Amino acid sequence: MTKIQIETIPILPFGMLNSFLIVHGDDAILVDTGLPKSEAKIFKTLKKLGLSWSNVKLIVLTHAHIDHAGSAVAIKALTSAPIWAHAREVPYCSGQPPKLAATGPFGWTFQKTGAIERPFPYFKPDEIMTAGEIGLEDRGFPLKIIHTPGHTPGSVSVLLENDRVIAGDLAASGVLLGGIALRNKPKRPPFEEDRLAVATSLELLLQRGCKTFYLGHGGPLNADRIEKHVSTLRRVQA
Ligand SMILES: [Zn+2]
Ligand SMILES: [Zn+2]
Repeated sequence: MTKIQIETIPILPFGMLNSFLIVHGDDAILVDTGLPKSEAKIFKTLKKLGLSWSNVKLIVLTHAHIDHAGSAVAIKALTSAPIWAHAREVPYCSGQPPKLAATGPFGWTFQKTGAIERPFPYFKPDEIMTAGEIGLEDRGFPLKIIHTPGHTPGSVSVLLENDRVIAGDLAASGVLLGGIALRNKPKRPPFEEDRLAVATSLELLLQRGCKTFYLGHGGPLNADRIEKHVSTLRRVQA
């Protein structure tokens, strides 16, 4: 059986912002599209793997913040692949401003820059997930997409066989935006809509046996680190 591979796409250097390619044979799924104008960075990773735009069969959005959904429209035009998002994320895909609940000083400062609220090319997802979990085996990908709300209401995680999961912004690691240094140290991303829902979603992924957590900012983190982060989330006041 062909091995399924996760390739990190560095949208920003030092792990500050990652998208991912899931590659299975000649087919690939792009998980998150980065900030607007990330096409060249995504193509560079495809090329490195000997692939092209036409190999991308699906674009999955872990959520619709600008740093994950900013190039969705452009990538869809290049690949003809459908965009997949959860029903509860559709308002953000169509331009509703994100609810920004800052998790600390970096989030407050970041919010003042207005960077995360900048408009980007909005869209209606082609495939809208309403179930809690959907398997993509019938499309040739041995993986599941799981609704893991908290960071935003329609956040999803992509769970692969071999205990790996792409968990978007359910957690982050490193300093500032993420990555750079201390990449083993989990932290909350700059914004989080519902802290306790994040804890519950991470617990669900741990119960499902996830051992390696690939993240939008920083990471990857192992299950021990995520477990510690969950208890921190449960302890934090408000
Ligand atoms: Zn986010
Ligand atoms: Zn993010």
